[in-house]
Amino acid sequence: MKKVNKTYKFRIYPNAEQEQNLARHFGHSRFVYNYFLNQRKEQYLEDKKSDNYYAQAASLTKLKKEEDTKWLKEVNSQTLQFALKSLDSAYTNFFRGNAKFPRFKSRRNKNSFTVPQSGKIVDGKLNIPKFKNGIKIKLHREVLGTIGKMSITRTPSGKYFVSIFTEQEIEQLPINNKSIGCDLGIKDFVITSDNKKFKNNRYTKKYARKLKEAQQHLSRKQKGSNGFEKQKIKVAKIHEKIANSRLDTLHKVSKELVDENQVICIEDLNIKGMIKNRKLSKHIADASWGNFVNLLQYKCDWYGREFVKVNRFFPSSKTCNECGWINQDLNLSIREWTCVNGHKLDRDLNASLNILKEGLKIYGGEPAITKVENHKTTSVASSLKPEAQPIGSAVGG
Ligand SMILES: [Zn+2]
Repeated sequence: MKKVNKTYKFRIYPNAEQEQNLARHFGHSRFVYNYFLNQRKEQYLEDKKSDNYYAQAASLTKLKKEEDTKWLKEVNSQTLQFALKSLDSAYTNFFRGNAKFPRFKSRRNKNSFTVPQSGKIVDGKLNIPKFKNGIKIKLHREVLGTIGKMSITRTPSGKYFVSIFTEQEIEQLPINNKSIGCDLGIKDFVITSDNKKFKNNRYTKKYARKLKEAQQHLSRKQKGSNGFEKQKIKVAKIHEKIANSRLDTLHKVSKELVDENQVICIEDLNIKGMIKNRKLSKHIADASWGNFVNLLQYKCDWYGREFVKVNRFFPSSKTCNECGWINQDLNLSIREWTCVNGHKLDRDLNASLNILKEGLKIYGGEPAITKVENHKTTSVASSLKPEAQPIGSAVGG
């Protein structure tokens, strides 16, 4: 058993009164964040230092007693304290060099607030402080483990979601002796050394066309008009669909690989570097390689698998996996080639076999490897049809 953090995301359906109350929560949290960001900036300009979280929390308590700002009391006090804490972590991350300087939050961006504790799900309703009767929630799967904080968001298209953070015990998978190398590609977004090809999600393509049309419509509308606002929501909805169906695929593929293999080897890609290449960039961003590698890594950790990253300068496509000869002339358009020693190679499969070899060297283990022939490729895309309703899929699992 292993203790892990798992997040669930569900859609919630507030009534009109609750929507107003949610708007207050978004607004007040944003006010606190911006007010105290501004305070830190001004203090810093004045004498090169500013209040920390504790000093600001004390100021917040005072604010709630002042006539002009006593409306802050309409909102659960822990939610406002959480806004202060996230400002504090934004500062810490900035000074550690992990993030840009914190920016003021605007209503136009994502609206969200966090309930650090005491959120519950009772009788199919979300119960959080200041919402007496509970908000209707669409629970499409059971929430396991201990519930921690909850974040409520409103998307640009006007939908509401709750993310529920939990801590739970996960049973690790039984150990097996299979290991696998994964090459990340464009046409097939994962090609494994046991000859499976996972197709790029076709839904994304379909929606991409719709998105283009919707954006063209939007560009013809007058900014600020009713039609413009309506069309903007349409565009946002398509963006959401693309993101959801993509994430759904990434979860399924990574879980399948983790279920089947003990050691998973993957190239350590300099993804940012590759995105500079304009021709490739759209496809790469689309396949969400970076996201996939992250999912794979944490699932390996959860289920007791080994995750091995292979150095990115290793020429996995150019090297013959049979004899080690390097094909300096290989470019992106060559899908199949033969090395000087007569080994026939499928570009992607060859790369994944090399990644596996190199990964096992790094791992230092010698689990049994099943050798596959280079040209008999099994397509497993059919097992990857995205579900009709990926919205609100649990993150993880
Ligand atoms: Zn060869």
